[in-house]
Amino acid sequence: MTPKIKQPVLEKGDVTPWIERPVPGVAPRDYPQGPMSLHTEPTLECPECHSVVTRTAMAFNAYVCPQCDEHLRMKARDRLNWFFDQVECELGQEFTPKDPLGFVDSQPYPERLAKAQKQTNETEALLVMQGLVGAIPMVACAFEFDFMGGSMGSVVGDRFVLAAETAINLQQPLICFAASGGARMQEGMISLMQMARTAAATERLKQARLPYIVVLTHPVYGGVTASLAMLGDIHLAEPKAMVGFAGKRVIEQTVREVLQEPFQRAEFLLEHGVIDQIVHRHALKDTIQRLVAKLMNLP
Ligand SMILES: [Zn+2]
Repeated sequence: MTPKIKQPVLEKGDVTPWIERPVPGVAPRDYPQGPMSLHTEPTLECPECHSVVTRTAMAFNAYVCPQCDEHLRMKARDRLNWFFDQVECELGQEFTPKDPLGFVDSQPYPERLAKAQKQTNETEALLVMQGLVGAIPMVACAFEFDFMGGSMGSVVGDRFVLAAETAINLQQPLICFAASGGARMQEGMISLMQMARTAAATERLKQARLPYIVVLTHPVYGGVTASLAMLGDIHLAEPKAMVGFAGKRVIEQTVREVLQEPFQRAEFLLEHGVIDQIVHRHALKDTIQRLVAKLMNLP
């Protein structure tokens, strides 16, 4: 049965603006949850200028705010899919984290892992892919910061070593997009051992005369800074990325001094000779391609 349309009554001498006047023969719609929003698409808020942009528009712009140029954090999978023009394969998926120490802090480590896996849809904090960037084949890995702060456990070590070995076997360069809080305390000494392991892997790349380029994205700290992230042939950084070993607050408490901005930011590190170049995300792919072509004598 069709509901009976209640005809709006047009009063004589009505002064309501024409756009708000009821249309004869059309029943006004009833919204049980209030008026429908024009934007049903998921949005992201820029942490810097607070402008709200749709997720699609943000992804299209490589997660750089179109209003203020702030570089938002990119998920590891988004990062690698954006970096490669063609992905050939994903490596290291067979390595999944275990709980070697039976570690329990405020909650058991396996529970923490399960939660991180569910939240990020990834099995560990490092992703490795091999594919083509332009016409150049490369191996690249990216840290997923949302997976327990991108911390380096044994599986991150396994995957990084596998990435380096694959690069050597295929005679291709290795690119690393670093973003990490450091070692994973839930794996204790085993986590710290990954510093030596990954450092040895970068040394093997050097002996094979293959370029290893590190891109420091916001933030990189602790054991990752102290190992694989600072052992590249070239260190690029994204604007305003924070990179250090200990955090600013810890240093302030130790040296009893107030450290001013931009302490530990990419701009500060460039001035002090820690990194080679700050590259805007939109120019990053092109810069890496040119560097690799130069270093490997490619046309
Ligand atoms: Zn912004």
